[in-house]
Amino acid sequence: MGKRKFKAESKRLLELMINSIYSQKEVFLRELISNASDAIDKIYYKALTDENLTFNQSDYFIKLDADKDSRTLKIADTGIGMTGEELEKNLGTIAKSGSLSFKTENEIKDGHDIIGQFGVGFYAAFMVADTVTVVSKALGSEQAFKWESTGSEGYTIEPAEKETVGTEITLKLKENTKDDNYDEYLEEYRLKEIIKKYSDFIRYPIKMEVTKSKKEDDSDEYVDYKEEETINSMVPIWKKNKSELTDEDYENFYREKRYGFDTPLKHIHLSVDGNIRYNAILFIPENRPFDYYSQDYEKGLELYSSGVLIMEKCADLIPDHFSFVKGLVDSEDLSLNISREMLQHDRQLKLIEKNINKKIKQQLLSLQRDDREKYEQFFQAFGRQLKFGVYNEFGANKDTLKDLLLFYSSKEKKLVTLAEYVSRMPEDQKYIYYATGESIDRIDKLPQTELVADKGYEILYFTEEIDEFAIRVLMNYEEKEFKSVSSNDLGIDTEEEKVSEQETEENKELFDYMKEKLTGKVKEIRVSKRLKSHPVCLTADGEISIEMEKVINAMPDNQHVKADKVLEINPNHEVFQTLKESFENDKEKLDLYTNILFNQALLIEGLPVEDPVEFTNNMCKVMVAQS
Ligand code: ADP
Repeated sequence: MGKRKFKAESKRLLELMINSIYSQKEVFLRELISNASDAIDKIYYKALTDENLTFNQSDYFIKLDADKDSRTLKIADTGIGMTGEELEKNLGTIAKSGSLSFKTENEIKDGHDIIGQFGVGFYAAFMVADTVTVVSKALGSEQAFKWESTGSEGYTIEPAEKETVGTEITLKLKENTKDDNYDEYLEEYRLKEIIKKYSDFIRYPIKMEVTKSKKEDDSDEYVDYKEEETINSMVPIWKKNKSELTDEDYENFYREKRYGFDTPLKHIHLSVDGNIRYNAILFIPENRPFDYYSQDYEKGLELYSSGVLIMEKCADLIPDHFSFVKGLVDSEDLSLNISREMLQHDRQLKLIEKNINKKIKQQLLSLQRDDREKYEQFFQAFGRQLKFGVYNEFGANKDTLKDLLLFYSSKEKKLVTLAEYVSRMPEDQKYIYYATGESIDRIDKLPQTELVADKGYEILYFTEEIDEFAIRVLMNYEEKEFKSVSSNDLGIDTEEEKVSEQETEENKELFDYMKEKLTGKVKEIRVSKRLKSHPVCLTADGEISIEMEKVINAMPDNQHVKADKVLEINPNHEVFQTLKESFENDKEKLDLYTNILFNQALLIEGLPVEDPVEFTNNMCKVMVAQS
């Protein structure tokens, strides 16, 4: 059996591996170990079902041998092995390389994401080795065979000597280059590290000779000696029984996995045995990662297939609104070898995501109920993401999220849920009232809140830009509509309501005159029904509130949106009398006052004064006139 050529597509894949500039070359070991584990699975299963075969637990293992002198790394397994034909079939062609045909020629060039996200099995060895030798003896055959390749040109297969059933893969490591140090794959600590990272939970022991030192008898000197050690822990924490585990175990795991440097607020351990079987450990972090609200933040859970890590950040497993959740999912029902594209469309992943979404919501609700302080801490860190979640996708997720929201309450002086608000609503209250502003302090002083507050109604304070947008999408809660304290129709039937309409009518000429002076700035001037002690305020008619105008115009792609502003004047304030008088006697004075009052209203709203110099000059004119 002489030299053979690789099939075209395999050759391409192999070249990709050989020339890979992919930085995480270490994944080759994960691929080889997982192949070994699969091969042991097969023989293990055979032994379970075939009474002619007897094996002991100790017969199943994977062994690593690093030899610095020859710069070789050997990975041996006691799995089912391969015949000569199987070596040809399995290693001469990469069966699943169909994943390549998904890609355009351009995408293929760097090969980064195929390798990065999945590895492509056995060929990954060529990222680190220039010669790969596989010696294998199949279960039930007398003869062993050797497969060897030094690259994409081809490979050889010939008979070989091997005592026991199984496969032994020897990698002759590439020479070090400026950018890549291949020697590291001969170092004990490094191999251990890689095994711990990717293959800790492989069911069979991964053994390695490790150097230890001990004191010689009758001497103070230490001597080194070699001892075989099992590197992987074999039982994943997520497969353990919840009752065996302490909070500390979960916290340690969180840190070991580098999910974060904080202490998680809550962990969720799932063992699901439904349409799709999976285990998951999820964490709600305590602190918001520094890049959380930036483009750089990548959501995702680790994805394992039967204990083997196949993807470090699987975004499809977690909805955007819970993007802060860290953790992993392990499922036996997922194939290890699915390509990235297929994985994205995997129905099974969708099922898991749906399920996880539900569980996280349940857990957050129970935290809200049972440990309000912790929940508030969580909400301070990630509440904004939940509100974005309500707003995004045209409100597709609003029902999932509405009960998780908290807003500051004017009455309770703390964060409350919408359910709590509604449960406290007096019989005659029609709407859920809210006020928007920069901070709680600022809203506390907003003139617009006066009537609603006076009526004894609770007001929710919206201090974040997203708040009003989210609430517009939500529209109502338990059939109660949301209403801004600035809206024209407050749904409060009071004496003030009738009086204000009447007075607006009576002072039509005055208001028309003032409106003329404020052309392009306000749509209307009217007598306020909501003001009690303040002279003026600004409100908006129509869909766009003043707060929304601010937010939209602050966006990078400034759309120059304008709210229909209404200048409201308090008929009970002395200033109103002054306006009426100057309308009769001194138009110049009225012009001055109109300008000042409008600018005052802008300031109260947190909007910039249009012409600060004119405004301050006008103030001076008033001062001089007074003296
Ligand atoms: P995959 O494992 O994803 O199918 P690989 O390229 O890694 O693809 O391997 C191709 C095939 O070679 C495997 O499906 C398996 O049949 C065989 N194989 C690889 N490694 C071993 C091994 N250590 N023992 C037995 N068979 C193996």
